[in-house]
Amino acid sequence: MENCKMWIGGKWVDADSGKTFLTHNPATGEVVAEVPLAGASDVDKAVAAARKAFPSWSRRTQAERSDIVARIAAAVREHSAELARLEILEHGAPLDFAPFMLKFAAENIELAASGARTVMGEVLPPASSMGQGPGDAPNTLAYMKREPIGVCALITPWNVPSLLISTKISPCIANGNTCVLKPASINSGIGLKWAEIMATVKDLPPGVVNVVTGPGGTIGQHLSTHPGVDLISFTGSTEVGKAIIAASSQTVKVLGMELGGKNPAIVLEDADVVPVAEELAQIAFMNVGQNCAQPSRFYVHEKIYDKFVEAFVAAARRIKVGDPSDKSTTMGPVANKDQRATIEAYIQSAIDEGARLVLGGKRPTEPPLDKGYFVMPTVFTNVTQNMRIAREEVFGPVVGFLKFSSDEKVIEAANDSVFGLCASVWTKDVARGIKFANELQAGTVWVNQHMNLVAETPWGGFKESGLGKEGGVIGAQMYTQLKLVYLKHI
Ligand code: NAP
Repeated sequence: MENCKMWIGGKWVDADSGKTFLTHNPATGEVVAEVPLAGASDVDKAVAAARKAFPSWSRRTQAERSDIVARIAAAVREHSAELARLEILEHGAPLDFAPFMLKFAAENIELAASGARTVMGEVLPPASSMGQGPGDAPNTLAYMKREPIGVCALITPWNVPSLLISTKISPCIANGNTCVLKPASINSGIGLKWAEIMATVKDLPPGVVNVVTGPGGTIGQHLSTHPGVDLISFTGSTEVGKAIIAASSQTVKVLGMELGGKNPAIVLEDADVVPVAEELAQIAFMNVGQNCAQPSRFYVHEKIYDKFVEAFVAAARRIKVGDPSDKSTTMGPVANKDQRATIEAYIQSAIDEGARLVLGGKRPTEPPLDKGYFVMPTVFTNVTQNMRIAREEVFGPVVGFLKFSSDEKVIEAANDSVFGLCASVWTKDVARGIKFANELQAGTVWVNQHMNLVAETPWGGFKESGLGKEGGVIGAQMYTQLKLVYLKHI
């Protein structure tokens, strides 16, 4: 890392306390970056810088702002190899996954730049005074316009670091807001690399984007209660999301919440067993099972259950666990030591509750993998609806299989969850697929796919999986507020 300072008001700064903390390579335990440990006073400075930048940035023409945001996309494309290197080192993303995430990130920014140019208002029926007077009022006009909101706190998780930074920063600033980004602590080096790249962008005014690094429990909490923050866009666990909602209530902020999930994949008896099992195994263990959208509870019709599990396990066995910087690796380490401990506790809970471990369940013990935070792809059968691995988000390479016999029962079981992020159904019968799509309580339902997402698609969960949508032109609306104007020509 060339620059491990925070970026506030267009300047590179240390924490007021002078303190720092380290980030580590999850594959080897080695140090990747030493970054500032921000406290409340650093957050205050970042919010003040964003507030100062807001009036002139929000008054720029849309064409000017979109042009600058498009330059950020170009800079990300130009520096994508450096960012990908850090995604591998600091997050453990495999060699082929990291560039794919950065391509997606650049596309997000390009879409935000052009999408903001399509934001329009609406003309409403003319109003006469409180319904009194002539029905037709040719001298009045009522219209709604979209305006930026102000200073946005953008708080991101560690699971797809660059992708989520891009998803938040670009629509936020393209639509005229300014922001303070707080990346996940364990990916702080990636967050500061984004700052370094944005600092190269011509005409991006100081203070429009500020990046602070430090613990969520202190600086994230301070941002959540800060009177200078107008909007919080948060992606992370439901538990922390609820804490932010509570903390922000005293200052009534706009909230966008992308939270946890326990996503079902439902395989009906007419599905093509082997290809579907292979596709789902590949999807379930991508990014070590650390994508919010991944399926982790598999409901398989009893008629094909045994054959499906056999094909899924055979495909999971072919996954090559290893150092993410090795070309042959298809699954790297989990994000850190704590996350591995959480995953291992879930594996033990499944064993204790009577699920049958049919694959994995352990760490690799042979060097050099013994030094990193690896967990082998893990598959349980005989899972029942009340077990913790069927109800709680593991966020790791652990999946459970449940058997079903009727459409009604499986829809009920899939919906029996506090979460409602996404779901998939696999069938050759399109009408049946549509019936499931209508009945499943989830923000996204795929039929014969899972995890297919592009920059244009808005994303967001039902129930305790979130509030609002993020991504695409619809998601970008979160960063604008509607103003109604009544005008009378006299
Ligand atoms: P997390 O523990 O909730 O942390 C997310 C972010 O919040 C981090 O930057 C964290 O900072 C910060 N934070 C922690 N405590 C805070 C507090 N009291 N106030 C304000 N901010 C606080 O989540 P994670 O473990 O990084 O990520 C995994 C979770 O994200 C999973 O639940 C996953 O489902 C969810 N996720 C959801 C989506 C979606 O689109 N729905 C997408 C990706 C991930 P520190 O890093 O310093 O703790």
